[in-house]
Amino acid sequence: MKYDVIIIGAGPGGIFSAYELAKNDPKMKIAVFEAGNTLSKRKCPIDNDEVKGCINCKNCSIMSGFGGAGAFSDGKYNITNDFGGTLHEYIGKQKALDLMHYVDEINLSFGGEGTKLYSTADSNFKKICEQNHLKLLDASVRHLGTDVNRIVLENLYNYLAERVDFFFLTPVTHIEKDKNGFRVLTENDSYECEKCIVSVGRSGSKWMEQICGELDIPTKSNRVDIGVRVELPASLFSHITDELYESKIVYRTEKFEDNVRTFCMNPHGCVVTENTNGIVTVNGHSYNDPALQTENTNFALLVSKHFTDPFKDSNGYGESIARLSNMLGGGVMVQRFGDLMRGRRSTEKRIEEGFVTPTLQAEPGDLSLVLPKRILDGVIEMIYALDKIAPGTANDDTLLYGVEVKFYNMEVELDDDLETKHKGLYIIGDGSGVTHSLSHASASGVYVARKILK
Ligand SMILES: Cc1cc2nc3c(=O)[nH]c(=O)nc-3n(C[C@H](O)[C@H](O)[C@H](O)COP(=O)(O)OP(=O)(O)OC[C@H]3O[C@@H](n4cnc5c(N)ncnc54)[C@H](O)[C@@H]3O)c2cc1C
Repeated sequence: MKYDVIIIGAGPGGIFSAYELAKNDPKMKIAVFEAGNTLSKRKCPIDNDEVKGCINCKNCSIMSGFGGAGAFSDGKYNITNDFGGTLHEYIGKQKALDLMHYVDEINLSFGGEGTKLYSTADSNFKKICEQNHLKLLDASVRHLGTDVNRIVLENLYNYLAERVDFFFLTPVTHIEKDKNGFRVLTENDSYECEKCIVSVGRSGSKWMEQICGELDIPTKSNRVDIGVRVELPASLFSHITDELYESKIVYRTEKFEDNVRTFCMNPHGCVVTENTNGIVTVNGHSYNDPALQTENTNFALLVSKHFTDPFKDSNGYGESIARLSNMLGGGVMVQRFGDLMRGRRSTEKRIEEGFVTPTLQAEPGDLSLVLPKRILDGVIEMIYALDKIAPGTANDDTLLYGVEVKFYNMEVELDDDLETKHKGLYIIGDGSGVTHSLSHASASGVYVARKILK
């Protein structure tokens, strides 16, 4: 079967490239191959009742399927070059911002209208952070919420399904170069295309490495972010989250001069597990609908680790730490801050007696047996720094879930068009190592689609 363009992966990167191509060239023959399921069939079996923890499904419904890793996410589209990826280094700062705004407009027209756009511009909070040795990064953030995000995805799917051939539960196994373009192989079939857009995200990171090896595309990798997810009463952070929703705050530790940052803030949200290649880590999200909101706010505190030669396997390092927590806790572990500081494990009783009710059922344990000292010290310093701008953060009952790991896909060598050395083969989104967020991944999809349309 022949296509003009084959897109591999139906996450935000793949969806937005398909959308831009189909909208501007209705005659173009486009196929999307997705390892996971349709949106309606994506369901994580954890129900906190019969299935309490991750059972390592062959296809993780949280990470795979239409909507990609972002489908059940909080739908926070951060419009900024300060974090979320380095797309601007390839395409320029203004163009990157313009594309993120364009993605925002599409989201609004597909069901996101009425959602709020928050901004750090003119925020008093910036000064308060500076006074306390913290840095607030600049951004505008559209919070769709898990519920509205799903509606937007459903509407985008209905639009695309009439214009694009979707192949669900069809992981691509290999890509081969041939004289007219590329041959895309699945377990049972092969398909030809002139142009191929690869957008396989984090869940496709191992496969991406394999493909880069097979096609001799250079890569590099040297970063991983490791830390914990903090959960506390929403009221403690409401003066920040009501105004900014998501604040990215960076702290430089005194002891090691490492950067620790807040990440993925979810006011009135839930803590959830995430399964990447069989390793269970922690994440979070929150709903737009007040009826689905909780009394807690959660966010990650991450310490960035950049490795230098000769060590290259930064993701392997992060995986080993996550595996250790899985080994000790059977999945994600939770500890009260007070227990951590007293050097003892948390128990179900201590957690039950605390004033913060966990939104995720995790195994009470001792994070100091899992996290390297340097990372744990950084997290503890940051908690005390945040306590100055949000008093109560360092309370004994604050819950810490571990571990949270942000794996960075290795960076694939791409030119400014996000094209590999094989003309017509583009790599976008988180799978390229260029982006780490919904807005950047989506923007990279639009960017490459426009290059192809030209
Ligand atoms: C729980 C959670 C919450 C998050 N919250 C936010 C948030 O609020 N804001 C934010 O900016 N970011 C958030 N993120 C990150 C965000 O979801 C990602 O940055 C974004 O989805 C990346 O988009 P992508 O298209 O590059 O990749 P993905 O969304 O990962 O999509 C890649 C797709 O490719 C498919 N695939 C992989 N390999 C193959 C193959 N060989 N063949 C066919 N298909 C394949 C996968 O099944 C997947 O569906 C969150 C992530 C998680 C897990």
